[in-house]
This record gives sequence, structure tokens and C-alpha cells, in this order.
Amino acid sequence: MQLSQHSLSDFVDCPRRYYLHYVARQAWPLLESGPGGLDPLEYRSYLTRGVVLHRMIERHMLGIGAEKPPEPNQEPELALWYSRFLATDLSTLPAQRVPELALVAPLGDAGLYVRYDLLAFDDERTVPDTSARRFVIVDWKTIRGNSPPSTSWFVRRLQTRAYLYSLVAGGAPYNDGVPITPDQCSMRYWLANFPGQPWAEVGYSAAGYAADARMIQSLAADIAARATQSDFPLTTDERNCTYCTYRTLCNRVGAPDADLVIDDEPTADDSDVPELEY
Ligand code: SF4
Repeated sequence: MQLSQHSLSDFVDCPRRYYLHYVARQAWPLLESGPGGLDPLEYRSYLTRGVVLHRMIERHMLGIGAEKPPEPNQEPELALWYSRFLATDLSTLPAQRVPELALVAPLGDAGLYVRYDLLAFDDERTVPDTSARRFVIVDWKTIRGNSPPSTSWFVRRLQTRAYLYSLVAGGAPYNDGVPITPDQCSMRYWLANFPGQPWAEVGYSAAGYAADARMIQSLAADIAARATQSDFPLTTDERNCTYCTYRTLCNRVGAPDADLVIDDEPTADDSDVPELEY
């Protein structure tokens, strides 16, 4: 069984959504609604712009030339995001930088697949001592809202937990084969829509790693113990149905969440992170 932060998030939000998406592979011809009143087509366009931004930053990081920014009169939001990225000070990140780095971390009998937008780390050229190297996971975020989410919001995200866990559990090949310790790791979210506060940083600790390992391994065991559709019930929190593509299939309407942050992580199918086979 291969899991990812997307599939784990879906399972936590709604076991039935996990079943429909990853086990039954149920296609459903309904556009995902836009949170916060966004029109579904506008939301899809917003997600697409986010994917294009990720590709442009990847090309920039690889030095293969995406420097020609989009025309502001054609793609104003994308042009704004990219100009903000180019103006961002990245000098505090470790020197070795690998964009779109995929990793499968061991998870009992399963594997946890992650793909970091960027992993920045020290290597033998800059820090010979493997125990003194820093490893920073960077995620480019185009989330919207009246103000940036709090640090605690980022700390709680399953993405944060899964990404940091997987770096410690499976990142040794990027540290000359020596296991990476939690205190060497951190995660930074770059916030395209909040130029006055462009970074949200989350540190890590041995206690955090132990808690994440327990939580993620428990979720994996819970998923593995279920088999048929009836083992994967519909969520009791109908706020999770509001923007779900399966809501007509489940005969759910949803209940908008007034405090919702307009995230750039779709609930299903639109992810630019490919899933491995279940
Ligand atoms: S509509 Fe609601 S119950 Fe159905 S899969 Fe989506 S989140 Fe789950």
C-alpha cells in the first residue's frame, strides 16, 4: 500500500472520499466548488495558475529559463506571484537546492510518498559534519485569505506532519546515508499572496517526530484494516462535503465553513502530485 499526504488528508476528512478516490477510482463529473464563494471554473483556473507557478519556479531553480514572466495584462495574478517570488530573499536557505524532490518513506508495511516543492540542504561541500547539516522543506503556497493563516494552522496541517516525518524516516540518502535527526529539519511555506509576511516556518523535534510516527502509522493501519465501501463511512462533518466532487453521488449539500482558508490543495483529482498505485 502506498499512501501520500493527499490520500491521508482525504481519509481524515472523509473515509468515503478516500474509498471513492483511491480504492474504487470513482470518476465523478462534477467540478470541485470554489471555497469562499469562488465560482467552480474560477477555482479551477486558480488551481491551474498555482500549478503553472510551481512549474515556473521549478524551471527557475533548475536554471533552465522560465525568467520571462507572464504578461501582466494576460495573466495578472500569475505575473504578480512570480514577480514576488523573484523578489523573495532565499539567501537564508541552505545552498544545495533540489526542486520537485520525490521521496518514499518507510511506513510499516506501507510507503509514504511525498514530493517536496523544494528541498534545500547542506552537503559535504559546505558542512562536512553530517549531524550539523540543515534540511529545509519549502512549499510554494498560493492560499488566499484576509490575512495569512497562523503558524499553528501550518503546524497542524497533515502536509506539514507528513513532510517532516518522511524527511526523517526516509531522507538519509540526502545526508550521505546517515539518518537525519528531527532537529536538523524544518519546513517553510512561502505565501504568494502575503508579500508583507512571505514565510511561515515550522521547526521539528524528536517528540514531534515520535507523535507524527504514531499518528501516521495509526492512520495507515486503520486504512489497511478496511476493505469494502461500507468500511469507509461518509463523514459526519458536512463542511467537508461543501467543496467535494462526490457530493451529488453522496447526496450531500455541505455546510460552508466561515473560517475557511481558501487553500490551493484541492480535495480530489486536481492535485499536481501524482499518486502511486494503491
Ligand atoms: S461528499 Fe461528503 S461524504 Fe461524500 S465523499 Fe465527499 S466529503 Fe465524503
